[in-house]
Amino acid sequence: MKILALESTCDETSVAFLNGRKIEKNLVYSQIKIHRKYKGVVPEAASRAHSEKMAALLKKITANSKKPQAITFCRGPGLNGSLIVSAVAAKTLSEYYAIPLIGVNHLEGHFLSCEIENDEIKNKFKFPLIVLIASGGHSELWLAENYGIYKLLGSTRDDAAGEAFDKTAKLLGFPYPGGPILEREALKASKKDFSFPIPFVREGFDFSFSGLKTAVAYKLDGKKLSIGFKRSVCYAFQEAAVEALLKKTAQAAEKYKVKQIAVGGGVSANGRLREAFTSYFKGKNIETLFPQKKYCSDNAAMAGLCAFRRLEAGEFKNCVSVNADLKIESWRKKC
Ligand code: AMP
Ligand code: MG
Repeated sequence: MKILALESTCDETSVAFLNGRKIEKNLVYSQIKIHRKYKGVVPEAASRAHSEKMAALLKKITANSKKPQAITFCRGPGLNGSLIVSAVAAKTLSEYYAIPLIGVNHLEGHFLSCEIENDEIKNKFKFPLIVLIASGGHSELWLAENYGIYKLLGSTRDDAAGEAFDKTAKLLGFPYPGGPILEREALKASKKDFSFPIPFVREGFDFSFSGLKTAVAYKLDGKKLSIGFKRSVCYAFQEAAVEALLKKTAQAAEKYKVKQIAVGGGVSANGRLREAFTSYFKGKNIETLFPQKKYCSDNAAMAGLCAFRRLEAGEFKNCVSVNADLKIESWRKKC
């Protein structure tokens, strides 16, 4: 099955071409340069940039590729104006080629990316497993019982983990997106003489990060921000944020007695998080899976993965023409 995949949920425009389990192409255009001057994503500028870039990327990817047999796009969650760009492009292409249109969930794509190795889809998951999605817009814990069968255990009550990294970095005067910069600066910290309270919601599996951000703001209040001090703040923040994610994931793993944890979303690129999760769960005989770094941030290949699993499960089998509406954010929509 040849799948053409489109992604434009936030500030990356991306198209990918999958041939069976092989990700033959995955083109990503990042809008970081556009948003950096505003210190965050400007939705209007994002959708404009997607609409300017999408056609060029599609032209490039279809140039020497065979005709796709299915089209997929991330239906949501994401920014409405951005989502519409790939929804309309995908719908148009599916009408043109008369092939199925498969709207998929962006967060499921982050999770399924853990199964990519050497640009190929492998079978790594041993269900049931616990999924942590830590991205710029979401912090969620799921119990995954099989492909497409997910129970939401908890989510953030305020800021997402990536958002907390970005906002803390912004308070320290670092450019957008702050997550990777904060990690880099934390590594250079020489003084590790203070810590922040670990944000923890007592009941259930929800997260909360706004208190940690406020604690950072109080710590900075009225201080001269030397680079040494900033690095110490980055270190202390990162320790607290990683510990908060780890604690809830560990509770969920214990409750549901799983043998695997899968972590997806932009924050899963964080080296300290990878190290802390791997070493903690190794001690519990639980395997931790992460996507390869190039598949951590938004890309269309992960939409292709969602479509691949649904086609494999037999959905869209008798579907010869297109009948998928463009409603955003439906979890599983059948043709
Ligand atoms: P996503 O929303 O999945 O596209 O991921 C983007 C988010 O991941 C942004 O908030 C980034 O700051 C964050 N992020 C990316 N790399 C890292 C990193 N190395 N450490 C912490 N956060 C990161
Ligand atoms: Mg994302």
